[in-house]
Amino acid sequence: MLKVQNLKKTYTVGDFVTNAVDDLSIEFRQTEFVAILGPSGCGKTTFLNILGALDRPDSGEISLYGNSLTEFKDIELDRYRNHSLGFIFQTHNLVQHLSIVENVEMGMTLSGVNEKERRERALELLNKVGLVEHMNKRPNQLSVGQSQRVAIARALANNPDIILADEPTGSVDSKTSHQIMELIKEVAENKLVIMVTHDVKLAEQYATRIVRLNDGRVESDSNPYDSSGKVDVSKELVLKKTAMSFKTSFLSALKNLKTKLGRAFLTAFASSIGIIGIALILALSSGMNQEIETFQTQTIGQYPINISSVQINQDAIAELRQQTFESFPKEKEVIAYDSNITSILLHYNNLTDEYVEYVTNYYNENPQLFSGFTVKPKMKYTIITPIVDAEGNTSYKHFFTDGSSNTMPTDQLGRRSTLLPDGGIFDSVYDIIAGAKPSSDPANKTFDIVITVDKYNRINLNILNDLGFVVEDRERISFDEFVGKELFLKPGGYNAATFNPDDAIKLRISAIVRIKKADSFTLFNNGIAFTNELVDYIKENYPTTVSSVDYIHIYPINFDVKEQIKEHLDAYNDRFETEDDPNYIRYSDDSAVFAAISKTLIDAISIGLIAFTSISLVVSSIMIAIITYTSVIERTKEIGLIRALGARKKDVSRIFNSENIIIGLLAGILGMVLTYILTFPLNAILRHYSGVNDIAQVHWHHIVVMILISTFLAFVSGLIPARMAAQKNPVEALKIE
Ligand code: ADP
Ligand code: MG
Repeated sequence: MLKVQNLKKTYTVGDFVTNAVDDLSIEFRQTEFVAILGPSGCGKTTFLNILGALDRPDSGEISLYGNSLTEFKDIELDRYRNHSLGFIFQTHNLVQHLSIVENVEMGMTLSGVNEKERRERALELLNKVGLVEHMNKRPNQLSVGQSQRVAIARALANNPDIILADEPTGSVDSKTSHQIMELIKEVAENKLVIMVTHDVKLAEQYATRIVRLNDGRVESDSNPYDSSGKVDVSKELVLKKTAMSFKTSFLSALKNLKTKLGRAFLTAFASSIGIIGIALILALSSGMNQEIETFQTQTIGQYPINISSVQINQDAIAELRQQTFESFPKEKEVIAYDSNITSILLHYNNLTDEYVEYVTNYYNENPQLFSGFTVKPKMKYTIITPIVDAEGNTSYKHFFTDGSSNTMPTDQLGRRSTLLPDGGIFDSVYDIIAGAKPSSDPANKTFDIVITVDKYNRINLNILNDLGFVVEDRERISFDEFVGKELFLKPGGYNAATFNPDDAIKLRISAIVRIKKADSFTLFNNGIAFTNELVDYIKENYPTTVSSVDYIHIYPINFDVKEQIKEHLDAYNDRFETEDDPNYIRYSDDSAVFAAISKTLIDAISIGLIAFTSISLVVSSIMIAIITYTSVIERTKEIGLIRALGARKKDVSRIFNSENIIIGLLAGILGMVLTYILTFPLNAILRHYSGVNDIAQVHWHHIVVMILISTFLAFVSGLIPARMAAQKNPVEALKIE
């Protein structure tokens, strides 16, 4: 069944050529016990290694059931070693970090036998070699003879057709030698056993055929064989598949890591440092970006782009500031000076229908750019407060007629009604500190209004008096007295004598709102704020009380968008020759005075820092490569052994790759846990210096991405050493002590 023809193998070291196997031809029967005898250095081991496909011959032919071994692909040779062959070495070559039973299972693990079957068969074999009670011991807890018996059990595990034994009794005493020979003879009853020995007596006692080698050739053969004419068996029948599952390589990697837990943990910890660095920068930059975004929304919320019928001329103010006069001048001259500055400072915008349409269309076409938009017309109306006296009689107090511009110039009494902006800006800028969001009920002529207070909860005394509160400076009034309070609004003129509450619009204070951020600037309109629904209702039902547009407030979603919107506003003025044109429109942007800290800048800084911190990732990658390399060196013999047992090159690299993936994963998880813990002291320090809470924030997507990066890097760093391990020559690897 195994036929060798004209086999040659030479070793050249320097100028010295050794013909280890020299034109050797021989054929073996399917079942026989062949002993190969010969002096040391005559090529016995070389021959056996070539038979076991651990080594390639220089020339010659080996055929297995008529299939040429030299034509086998690598993967087929792996299968041949795994299923058809059992190796027994001179030294037992057990893997020290595995138990006895796990050592026996190794070959079956490689061929993908399931766990239960594997264990059953291993125990059966251990029973056969008389070591079943030692199954959980480590190899170094056994005697040499016992270890050799474990090796025999392991060689038999996949029920091979051929057993190759290279001086199996070479390192044991003669009594144990006999035990081992008995065992081999017993297990080999229906197999081909080819055993190299230098013990002539043992050979004569146990073997059925004795072949003597000398200088790489057959010197004598006690029972030659020639199969010429026998039927061939197909390759597919000879070679069963070997497949080590991912799960198996993963579990085996875990097991190995467990034996050097300290090292694995330290490696993971060292690799996690780079991950922590990058994760902290990400946490900080995303927190800062969020902070900037909130700052922008709130600033814009407080200072929308304001296009008012009366507008302060910012350019004129700036010009005025630049005018410097020398004090106590020596020149004998008088300087003419126009002290009527209001005429210079104020600009009257002609908010024509055309202009309002120009702006409103832009809002309607690009709603994504705006978080709020308000067009307030000039309205003439009166607000009437019912006053109930001690006897329960109601009288009316009217206080608020507003027909002209109420934004500029400042109303000296602080009597202001504001229009609440439409859109998301309300929620991001205001806190409702009492009551609920305003709603409206046009069918019943009832509309909610809100009271706005500054960050100290203050409202102008005049407004409070007008609302019917008889109070003095610094007096405090409970929220309860506001929420639910009912007033009336009479569009147009008011006559106390003929006033009938049923004719008026009912107003109900639904909430007290306050600006969110503890900014040093306060909302400029404190007092009553209307909803757009109310304004629309008045426009529709009392058109004569509504005249031209008083102001337009534009709330862009952020500073960048604000510039875009301003460009659109500027474009309107292109149609006029000069700025002095009566229809030239000026707007004011008070939020422009705040430096627009750009998110792009933060991103740029973050990328720079991440690039810098990535150096530590490079360091940890190199470290993992070195550690894998060390591990490969340490486990060279084991690599040789599992290759002899039929592991594919792929399986070998997979074991190391799995280890690195586990370490990378561990490093990633550890890194993110530590990052999360570190954000607490970091945020405490940042809060102390900046007063801002929770700047560093670890997000879920950061966690996932960083763990993936860590795992991937560890995997990639170990690829080369793992590949080196896979490429190792099994014969050389097995020789390493
Ligand atoms: P045996 O097992 O019969 O003692 P080997 O097969 O180990 O002999 O060696 C046969 C000959 O080949 C010896 O002369 C040995 O020195 C030589 N040899 C074996 N392996 C190598 C090698 N890797 N490099 C160089 N020479 C080798
Ligand atoms: Mg030898």
